[in-house]
Amino acid sequence: MPEPLRPATVAVTAGRPPHEPDQPLNEPITMASTYVAGGDREYGRYTNPSWTAFEDALGALEGGRCLSYASGMAAVTTLLDLVATGDKVVVPRHTYQGTLVQLADLEMRGRLTTELVDITDTAAVAAACHDAALVWFESPTNPALEVADVPAVIEAAHAAGARVVVDNTFLTPLLQKPLDLGADIVLHSATKYLAGHSDLQLGAVVTRDDELYGVLKNRRDVQGNHPGPFEAWLALRGLRTLALRVERASTNAAELAVRLSSHPLAVEVRYPGMGGMVSLVLPSADHADLLVRSTSLWVHATSLGGVESTFERRRRWKSEPTTIPEGLVRLSVGIEDVEDLWADLLSALDGLPRS
Ligand SMILES: *Cc1c(COP(=O)(O)O)cnc(C)c1O
Repeated sequence: MPEPLRPATVAVTAGRPPHEPDQPLNEPITMASTYVAGGDREYGRYTNPSWTAFEDALGALEGGRCLSYASGMAAVTTLLDLVATGDKVVVPRHTYQGTLVQLADLEMRGRLTTELVDITDTAAVAAACHDAALVWFESPTNPALEVADVPAVIEAAHAAGARVVVDNTFLTPLLQKPLDLGADIVLHSATKYLAGHSDLQLGAVVTRDDELYGVLKNRRDVQGNHPGPFEAWLALRGLRTLALRVERASTNAAELAVRLSSHPLAVEVRYPGMGGMVSLVLPSADHADLLVRSTSLWVHATSLGGVESTFERRRRWKSEPTTIPEGLVRLSVGIEDVEDLWADLLSALDGLPRS
């Protein structure tokens, strides 16, 4: 038996046409709303070779079967729809705010109940699981960058009979493989690191459960929340360089976290030890608002995971939990030269009032 290919190789090789004469090396974009009858494809809502190529590649990286969606939130919607009416969802209080907003809306309408937990308190999470149908979490959390004991949380959820979804957007399968750690479903906002160039929206779900895959596929067929072929094609093109981008962003982020920690205005610097996300807590909202307006290289923008460095004060969003500090700036560190990133940040920080 040959050794299994390593992830950086899989990111380059998976989801390609067969190595046969005249085949293109890359799956072309198939713009089609319908197909000539008599085959397996039939209609543009059911299947598209550009989605399939992306799904094959991400499925190979996460170690399961993948379905892609129009956005990360479309994938969130389809997974929350699996929860039976009245059932309970356990979720960290610092989950992605879009997911929290959607959960709050479902709870308000009587669809389900939620229990917010501190994901770093494994015993409290385990206690909350006892009557839960679904445990949904990110690790590290967005934007608090708290880290869960992932295998312990999954074990506690399964012991209580709950299904586990891990949103793996921040770490990507190159740094964390939740299915290997026991999770039932992995979710991605492929908008972020997987596509990696801040130019599209795409979501994905990966599972090893064939029955669940079938249920989700049938629902996508009728709900129409699939991606556009061009987005899927672009995302796969981005995925080819995932290993290089994640490696460089992580090295840059680790270095910036160290340098930021010794700046006199840094109240706190949070870095989970891997990945490209850093949260810098400044003394006040005013300091943070001024910082994001004072750089030339760093772009003030929401979202994350692009080749370019971006940052924002998270509490500018009304839906952000109030337990996130007012002065917290979330940095999505890109792949530029770290010295240029530091020089730009340092000169902006040095221009801020000292208290
Ligand atoms: C952005 C994001 C989402 C939502 O994805 P979209 O592609 O913006 O719809 C979900 N989870 C996390 C962790 C995210 O960062």
